[in-house]
Amino acid sequence: MYIKPPEVNLEKKKSIAMALFLFVVLCGVIAFSENAAQQPVLAYGIASKIIVVDPGHGGFDPGAWRGSLLEKDITLQISKKLQAYLSEAGAVVILLREKDEDLAPAPFKGSVRERKRSDLAARVESANKSKADIYVSIHTNADTSPRWSGAQTFYNSKSDASKILAEAIQEEFIRVLGNTKRKAKTGNYYIIDKTEMPAVIAEVGFISNPVEARLLSDDEYQERIAYAIFSGIIKSQSSETLEKEKIARVKELHKL
Ligand SMILES: [Zn+2]
Repeated sequence: MYIKPPEVNLEKKKSIAMALFLFVVLCGVIAFSENAAQQPVLAYGIASKIIVVDPGHGGFDPGAWRGSLLEKDITLQISKKLQAYLSEAGAVVILLREKDEDLAPAPFKGSVRERKRSDLAARVESANKSKADIYVSIHTNADTSPRWSGAQTFYNSKSDASKILAEAIQEEFIRVLGNTKRKAKTGNYYIIDKTEMPAVIAEVGFISNPVEARLLSDDEYQERIAYAIFSGIIKSQSSETLEKEKIARVKELHKL
């Protein structure tokens, strides 16, 4: 199955920025076309798989922000783009929210903290109940210093399949976005601890970095982030299969 990589609108950019932009775009297009050549085989890896896409935050909880730019809006926009790629490849996608809302049962009586906890518990419960094959939570990162940037994935150290997933997505962030050298990292987060399937938190960039904040709000850049996550999910499936085949071969050899 051929999944079209994101197209880039060239008309918006000007002068020197235009030349630079064209260079970057051309490199991107070459990279995408190389990748596209592999897609016909790989895209079948996720056909009919159940994939939960969780747009972080929402409703009362804006997440991190910079001026009027809110994490909860960026995560929803990227999640919808990711949903489109995954659906096109034949996956069954469960998008945990489709609008600006949280998942705590309404009407909610209690503190903001309690509501936040209830919201996260509802996300985990939805993922576990659906018996999903993969769970991806989308967030933007933030720091008190504006200097840090770069997309990064996080996974639960106890899950090998989550590690494969997080590393595959991280590799695609590095390749497709071309502006991060970060590595997939283990983390102790409630959602990746409590979900029962391979799970990853994708921090798609730092909203606290002015350059990256601008990129995160850009439709074309969001498309590239979604494509990188999509491509990483597909690649993780083939490496997981290879890993299982390798183990099976060793077992067969040793008559285990
Ligand atoms: Zn967040």
